[in-house]
Amino acid sequence: MARHSKSYTVAVVTIGNEVLSGRTADTNFFHLAGGLTDAGAEVVWHASCRDVVDEIGEALRMALRHARLVILTGGLGPTPDDLTRKVLAQVLERPLVLDDRALAGIRAFFDRRGVKMAPINEVQALLPRGSEVIPNPKGTAPGLLIAHEGLHVMALPGVPWEMEAMLKETVVPWLGERTGGGRITHLVLRTCGIAESALAEKLSEFERTLPGAATLAFLPGVAGVDLRVSFRGSPEEVEGQLSEVRAQLLAAAGDHVFAEGEDTLEAVVGRLLLHQHKTLSAAESCTGGLISERITRVSGSSAWFDRGVVTYSNASKTKLLGVKASVLKTAGAVSPEVAMEMASGMRERAATSIAVSVTGIAGPTGGTDEKPVGLVFMGLDWGEGAVACRFQLAGDRELIRQRASTMALDLVRRHLLGLPIKVLP
Ligand code: ATP
Ligand code: MG
Repeated sequence: MARHSKSYTVAVVTIGNEVLSGRTADTNFFHLAGGLTDAGAEVVWHASCRDVVDEIGEALRMALRHARLVILTGGLGPTPDDLTRKVLAQVLERPLVLDDRALAGIRAFFDRRGVKMAPINEVQALLPRGSEVIPNPKGTAPGLLIAHEGLHVMALPGVPWEMEAMLKETVVPWLGERTGGGRITHLVLRTCGIAESALAEKLSEFERTLPGAATLAFLPGVAGVDLRVSFRGSPEEVEGQLSEVRAQLLAAAGDHVFAEGEDTLEAVVGRLLLHQHKTLSAAESCTGGLISERITRVSGSSAWFDRGVVTYSNASKTKLLGVKASVLKTAGAVSPEVAMEMASGMRERAATSIAVSVTGIAGPTGGTDEKPVGLVFMGLDWGEGAVACRFQLAGDRELIRQRASTMALDLVRRHLLGLPIKVLP
């Protein structure tokens, strides 16, 4: 039986019609699974069900057969379609009783906002007998914890930010005490400009020599692949391995690594520009402002980003950037020549240290044999020199645009770090 297994097993039931109908992505499961795994527990079973008493009951019974701890999310609200408390009372055979602590918590939530509590909210304090309250710092619905026949059941609200806060503040610490601190530490290095398969090849030796308590995962995203090494063990045990593994991974993945952890490419570029007392401008065609959008997400980017212009038509490339009409005519808008003129025109007009430009075919229409969809040219002008690069990007329109914005930012990063730039990859 699962309950005798060595690891601390958890089963999760996410409840809600909107999850089953595909209107709401099951982010609660996603966050729970990550948080629980990091806390050293093992998620062994997961189900989603509709807001139907019998179906929730069946899911709960099944979950109880699979794990030592069952976590339910959703259906804790005050309305008649919120059925979780009722089902718990039925399945665990405990009457619903008014919990003073839960009621005080709900009242306090309304008091803090200077709003009078509606009588309907009182039902949220009706908990199966023997429940402990899991405080909800972000909403009215209290969570609950019940010890039942050697197992535990927790119910958390469905509202994502409430659920996530309670996971972090109560569930993870609670589990940490029971899993004996079998915590997991992640090291994440972020790469771009290299395919997952090529990266896997580069890292095969690294992976082979990885310490036993560590595992490597490739996490491909829209515009790059994150490399995640997960270490199991106490912080003291992990401490010793972390820096050595980081150094090895960096050496193996090379200059494709642009950041660590949650850091972003645009933030990295910004810090480099700041340190080097340089400024940037961007001339965008097929990315339609994405580069500028990403840059201006970085707080304080006004210190190093002057402007971005979207020059989508040929006329605007000439009028706003000074791209020669003759070049547009002979080389075409999607060409290294135009990319180069866009960058130099942008740099002169914005008077920035560096300008980057993008022109390409995002598709799905507009491609030819000679210039297929995904063909993108970029220009980089830094005053003393300039370069144009050619990329053949894969994906649909949105992916190509996203990837182009990443490669443009990476071009700036490579230039600032003095790394090699492939002109025609
Ligand atoms: P409330 O007090 O708001 O009624 P609740 O505990 O009853 O909270 P639900 O009614 O099930 O929760 O859901 C509230 C909100 O949370 C809805 O907008 C729903 O889309 C969202 N939600 C519910 N379950 C999930 C889930 N598994 N993943 C992401 N969002 C969810
Ligand atoms: Mg609800």
